[in-house]
Amino acid sequence: MNKEQIEVIGNNHLSSSVETPMRSDAFDKSDDEKIKNIQEYFGLIMEELGLDLSDDSLSGTPYRVAKMYVKELFYGLNPKNKPKLSTFENKYGYQKMLIEQNITIDSACEHHFLPIIGHAHIAYLPKEKVVGLSKINRLVDYYAHRPQVQERLSIQILKELQNALETEDVIVMICSKHLCVSSRGIKDKNSFTTTIAYGGYFEDDLKRNEFLNTVNNQTL
Ligand SMILES: [Zn+2]
Repeated sequence: MNKEQIEVIGNNHLSSSVETPMRSDAFDKSDDEKIKNIQEYFGLIMEELGLDLSDDSLSGTPYRVAKMYVKELFYGLNPKNKPKLSTFENKYGYQKMLIEQNITIDSACEHHFLPIIGHAHIAYLPKEKVVGLSKINRLVDYYAHRPQVQERLSIQILKELQNALETEDVIVMICSKHLCVSSRGIKDKNSFTTTIAYGGYFEDDLKRNEFLNTVNNQTL
Protein backbone atom coordinates (compact mmCIF):
# COMPACT_ATOMS: atom_id res chain seq x y z
CA MET A 1 0.00 0.00 0.00
CA ASN A 2 1.38 3.43 -0.89
CA LYS A 3 1.19 6.52 1.35
CA GLU A 4 -1.81 7.92 -0.52
CA GLN A 5 -3.81 4.71 -0.05
CA ILE A 6 -2.91 4.74 3.64
CA GLU A 7 -4.36 8.27 4.02
CA VAL A 8 -7.50 7.34 2.06
CA ILE A 9 -8.24 4.44 4.42
CA GLY A 10 -7.70 6.66 7.47
CA ASN A 11 -9.70 9.65 6.28
CA ASN A 12 -12.62 7.55 5.09
CA HIS A 13 -12.53 5.37 8.19
CA LEU A 14 -12.71 2.13 6.25
CA SER A 15 -12.53 -1.19 8.01
CA SER A 16 -12.02 -4.57 6.45
CA SER A 17 -13.96 -6.96 8.71
CA VAL A 18 -16.36 -7.38 11.65
CA GLU A 19 -13.67 -9.16 13.62
CA THR A 20 -10.81 -7.04 14.89
CA PRO A 21 -7.87 -8.05 12.66
CA MET A 22 -5.50 -9.90 14.99
CA ARG A 23 -2.28 -11.83 14.50
CA SER A 24 -2.36 -15.55 15.30
CA ASP A 25 0.44 -15.04 17.84
CA ALA A 26 -1.33 -12.06 19.48
CA PHE A 27 -1.17 -13.49 23.00
CA ASP A 28 1.98 -15.57 22.95
CA LYS A 29 3.73 -12.86 24.95
CA SER A 30 2.73 -11.88 28.47
CA ASP A 31 1.43 -8.40 29.26
CA ASP A 32 4.70 -7.65 31.06
CA GLU A 33 6.76 -8.56 27.97
CA LYS A 34 4.55 -6.37 25.79
CA ILE A 35 4.89 -3.43 28.20
CA LYS A 36 8.68 -3.84 28.21
CA ASN A 37 8.85 -3.88 24.39
CA ILE A 38 6.39 -1.03 23.81
CA GLN A 39 8.25 1.05 26.40
CA GLU A 40 11.40 0.65 24.30
CA TYR A 41 9.65 1.41 20.98
CA PHE A 42 7.81 4.45 22.33
CA GLY A 43 11.05 5.78 23.77
CA LEU A 44 12.51 5.57 20.25
CA ILE A 45 9.57 7.54 18.83
CA MET A 46 10.09 10.26 21.44
CA GLU A 47 13.82 10.36 20.74
CA GLU A 48 13.15 10.59 17.00
CA LEU A 49 10.91 13.59 17.69
CA GLY A 50 13.90 15.19 19.36
CA LEU A 51 12.77 14.90 22.97
CA ASP A 52 15.33 14.58 25.77
CA LEU A 53 14.41 11.44 27.68
CA SER A 54 16.83 12.26 30.47
CA ASP A 55 14.44 15.05 31.55
CA ASP A 56 12.63 14.08 34.78
CA SER A 57 9.24 14.88 33.32
CA LEU A 58 9.77 12.75 30.19
CA SER A 59 11.86 9.85 31.45
CA GLY A 60 8.87 7.81 32.70
CA THR A 61 6.64 8.52 29.69
CA PRO A 62 7.58 5.46 27.58
CA TYR A 63 6.70 3.16 30.49
CA ARG A 64 3.49 5.06 31.29
CA VAL A 65 2.33 4.90 27.64
CA ALA A 66 3.22 1.19 27.33
CA LYS A 67 1.34 0.29 30.52
CA MET A 68 -1.63 2.45 29.49
CA TYR A 69 -1.83 0.73 26.07
CA VAL A 70 -1.67 -2.83 27.38
CA LYS A 71 -3.58 -2.55 30.67
CA GLU A 72 -6.04 0.27 30.05
CA LEU A 73 -6.77 1.64 26.56
CA PHE A 74 -6.46 -1.71 24.75
CA TYR A 75 -7.24 -4.27 27.46
CA GLY A 76 -10.23 -5.31 25.33
CA LEU A 77 -7.99 -6.91 22.70
CA ASN A 78 -7.40 -9.87 24.98
CA PRO A 79 -10.32 -12.35 25.13
CA LYS A 80 -9.30 -13.33 28.67
CA ASN A 81 -10.53 -9.88 29.76
CA LYS A 82 -13.96 -10.35 28.23
CA PRO A 83 -16.72 -9.97 30.84
CA LYS A 84 -18.82 -13.07 31.49
CA LEU A 85 -22.34 -12.36 30.27
CA SER A 86 -24.17 -14.58 32.73
CA THR A 87 -27.86 -14.65 31.90
CA PHE A 88 -30.85 -15.40 34.11
CA GLU A 89 -34.25 -16.86 33.51
CA ASN A 90 -36.82 -14.15 32.68
CA LYS A 91 -38.83 -14.65 35.88
CA TYR A 92 -40.83 -11.43 35.69
CA GLY A 93 -42.16 -12.28 32.27
CA TYR A 94 -41.29 -8.72 31.18
CA GLN A 95 -41.20 -8.94 27.39
CA LYS A 96 -41.26 -5.30 26.28
CA MET A 97 -38.32 -3.17 25.32
CA LEU A 98 -35.57 -2.71 27.90
CA ILE A 99 -33.28 0.23 27.18
CA GLU A 100 -29.89 0.87 28.76
CA GLN A 101 -28.82 4.34 27.67
CA ASN A 102 -25.98 6.83 28.04
CA ILE A 103 -23.37 4.11 28.40
CA THR A 104 -19.96 5.75 28.20
CA ILE A 105 -17.92 5.08 25.07
CA ASP A 106 -14.21 5.47 25.66
CA SER A 107 -12.46 4.09 22.61
CA ALA A 108 -9.68 4.85 20.15
CA CYS A 109 -9.72 5.01 16.37
CA GLU A 110 -7.60 2.30 14.77
CA HIS A 111 -6.46 4.58 11.96
CA HIS A 112 -4.90 7.30 14.10
CA PHE A 113 -4.91 5.92 17.68
CA LEU A 114 -6.82 9.01 18.82
CA PRO A 115 -9.81 8.92 21.23
CA ILE A 116 -13.40 8.22 20.26
CA ILE A 117 -15.69 9.48 23.02
CA GLY A 118 -19.45 9.37 23.32
CA HIS A 119 -22.38 7.23 24.37
CA ALA A 120 -24.07 3.99 23.48
CA HIS A 121 -27.79 3.34 23.80
CA ILE A 122 -28.80 -0.30 23.75
CA ALA A 123 -32.15 -2.06 23.87
CA TYR A 124 -33.39 -5.61 23.71
CA LEU A 125 -36.61 -7.52 23.98
CA PRO A 126 -36.27 -10.13 26.72
CA LYS A 127 -37.33 -13.65 25.73
CA GLU A 128 -36.40 -16.61 27.96
CA LYS A 129 -33.23 -14.94 29.18
CA VAL A 130 -32.26 -11.61 30.74
CA VAL A 131 -28.86 -10.18 31.54
CA GLY A 132 -27.73 -8.04 34.48
CA LEU A 133 -27.86 -4.38 33.44
CA SER A 134 -24.26 -3.57 34.39
CA LYS A 135 -23.09 -6.47 32.19
CA ILE A 136 -24.21 -4.50 29.15
CA ASN A 137 -22.03 -1.57 30.27
CA ARG A 138 -19.09 -3.91 30.87
CA LEU A 139 -19.47 -5.47 27.44
CA VAL A 140 -19.47 -2.03 25.79
CA ASP A 141 -16.39 -1.07 27.80
CA TYR A 142 -14.58 -4.25 26.73
CA TYR A 143 -15.16 -3.89 22.98
CA ALA A 144 -14.50 -0.13 23.13
CA HIS A 145 -11.05 -0.70 24.62
CA ARG A 146 -9.37 -1.79 21.42
CA PRO A 147 -8.28 0.14 18.37
CA GLN A 148 -11.69 0.47 16.71
CA VAL A 149 -13.90 1.81 13.97
CA GLN A 150 -17.33 2.82 15.23
CA GLU A 151 -19.26 0.65 12.78
CA ARG A 152 -17.39 -2.47 13.86
CA LEU A 153 -17.77 -1.62 17.55
CA SER A 154 -21.56 -1.37 17.09
CA ILE A 155 -21.76 -4.73 15.31
CA GLN A 156 -19.46 -6.54 17.77
CA ILE A 157 -21.64 -5.42 20.71
CA LEU A 158 -24.83 -6.33 18.83
CA LYS A 159 -23.64 -9.85 17.94
CA GLU A 160 -22.37 -10.59 21.43
CA LEU A 161 -25.69 -9.57 23.02
CA GLN A 162 -27.71 -11.48 20.42
CA ASN A 163 -25.70 -14.62 21.21
CA ALA A 164 -25.90 -14.25 24.99
CA LEU A 165 -29.61 -13.40 25.05
CA GLU A 166 -30.47 -15.95 22.35
CA THR A 167 -32.55 -13.44 20.41
CA GLU A 168 -32.11 -11.28 17.33
CA ASP A 169 -34.17 -8.51 18.98
CA VAL A 170 -31.33 -6.18 19.95
CA ILE A 171 -30.44 -2.63 18.87
CA VAL A 172 -27.17 -0.77 19.47
CA MET A 173 -26.86 2.95 18.77
CA ILE A 174 -23.59 4.79 19.26
CA CYS A 175 -23.12 8.57 19.06
CA SER A 176 -19.54 9.71 19.42
CA LYS A 177 -16.92 12.27 18.61
CA HIS A 178 -13.73 11.21 16.88
CA LEU A 179 -10.70 13.27 17.86
CA CYS A 180 -9.11 12.39 14.52
CA VAL A 181 -11.90 14.43 12.91
CA SER A 182 -11.89 17.29 15.43
CA SER A 183 -8.15 17.68 16.14
CA ARG A 184 -6.50 16.88 12.81
CA GLY A 185 -7.48 16.52 9.15
CA ILE A 186 -10.74 18.43 8.63
CA LYS A 187 -10.59 19.78 12.25
CA ASP A 188 -14.35 19.90 12.66
CA LYS A 189 -15.05 20.45 16.36
CA ASN A 190 -18.84 20.07 16.18
CA SER A 191 -19.66 17.02 14.11
CA PHE A 192 -20.27 13.65 15.66
CA THR A 193 -20.97 10.19 14.27
CA THR A 194 -24.03 8.00 14.83
CA THR A 195 -24.21 4.30 14.01
CA ILE A 196 -27.23 2.05 14.52
CA ALA A 197 -26.95 -1.74 14.31
CA TYR A 198 -29.99 -3.94 14.90
CA GLY A 199 -31.81 -7.15 14.14
CA GLY A 200 -35.15 -8.95 14.57
CA TYR A 201 -37.88 -6.81 16.17
CA PHE A 202 -35.97 -3.61 15.41
CA GLU A 203 -35.99 -4.22 11.64
CA ASP A 204 -39.52 -2.77 11.80
CA ASP A 205 -39.55 1.04 11.32
CA LEU A 206 -42.20 1.65 13.99
CA LYS A 207 -40.40 -0.40 16.62
CA ARG A 208 -37.09 1.22 15.81
CA ASN A 209 -38.74 4.65 16.10
CA GLU A 210 -40.14 3.70 19.51
CA PHE A 211 -36.55 3.10 20.63
CA LEU A 212 -35.21 6.27 19.00
CA ASN A 213 -37.99 8.42 20.49
CA THR A 214 -37.36 7.07 23.97
CA VAL A 215 -33.62 7.66 23.68
CA ASN A 216 -34.11 11.17 22.29
CA ASN A 217 -36.73 12.21 24.83
CA GLN A 218 -35.31 10.83 28.02
CA THR A 219 -32.72 12.75 29.90
CA LEU A 220 -31.96 12.05 33.52
ZN1 LIG B 1 -9.16 8.15 12.85
